[in-house]
Amino acid sequence: MTDESMIDEPRIDPAVQVAGAEEIAPDLLVIPNHRVELVPNIGIIGGTRAVLVVDTGMGVANAEQVLAFASEVAKGRQLYLTTTHFHPEHAFGAQVFAGQATYLVNRAQADDLKTKGTGYLEIFRGLGGPIVRRLDGVQVPTPDEVYDDGYDLDLGGRTVRLRPTGRGHTKGDQVIEVPDDGVLFTGDLAETGQFAIFPWLPPHDTDVSGVGWLAVMDRLAVSGPRVVVPGHGDIGGPQVLDDVRDYLRELRDETWRRRDSAMGEDEIVAEVRALLIERHPEWVGQEWIEPGVGCLCAEHAA
Ligand SMILES: [Zn+2]
Repeated sequence: MTDESMIDEPRIDPAVQVAGAEEIAPDLLVIPNHRVELVPNIGIIGGTRAVLVVDTGMGVANAEQVLAFASEVAKGRQLYLTTTHFHPEHAFGAQVFAGQATYLVNRAQADDLKTKGTGYLEIFRGLGGPIVRRLDGVQVPTPDEVYDDGYDLDLGGRTVRLRPTGRGHTKGDQVIEVPDDGVLFTGDLAETGQFAIFPWLPPHDTDVSGVGWLAVMDRLAVSGPRVVVPGHGDIGGPQVLDDVRDYLRELRDETWRRRDSAMGEDEIVAEVRALLIERHPEWVGQEWIEPGVGCLCAEHAA
């Protein structure tokens, strides 16, 4: 994600379509992103007592729709909100839930919101057109509750586990597990049908870690989910995690092999980019390869 490539690209309106919600387990809905860029997969997980919403969509109007839909599903049950990480299409609608839901996140994500939220609001406003409109009136949200090591949220007859993963796609990623149903919400630690998103934006943000991300994927695979809801793209089985891990290994190994031979970074980018596009011709998001290589070059030196 160089600033240029982000800004040059024409953008479509990142509108959440609540009407497309799918029940993937009893009282567990996903509003799929239909592969629309900058729309996340959004979860609504119910118990007898309460309902948890996972991610808001970008901006006030999207979040208002998600809140209205979740309230309809909840039928008077208490509402909670969590976000997988601080990025605008996942968390920058949370203000709408104030007073209606308890907004709960992990400590590292709360720190990301505080230290980087305003900067990302500016970066995303720079994307122009429909994104600017979606971000109109948006304030960087402040969580109601922040947890440290992990949080088991009892929704009544169904407990949901919120688990920080350590540094990966961002410094403050968390995953949401629904153990009884074997469902895992990964946020942007996993996507399908596209190259992994590396928000490597030196000097503004260098928190993404290819090495850390790989370690996270290894741990998530061991947890053995049956259903994986990625941050963007199609819902799938455990293979979703394997595919991301394989890609990250490929990106790392191809980058580091060239780095070992003292090749310059521009040449590495060109070669690795061509190679990975050839291996994954059907994937979108080719612009994410370059920052991925940049991140791993920096980590090779470290
Ligand atoms: Zn993200």
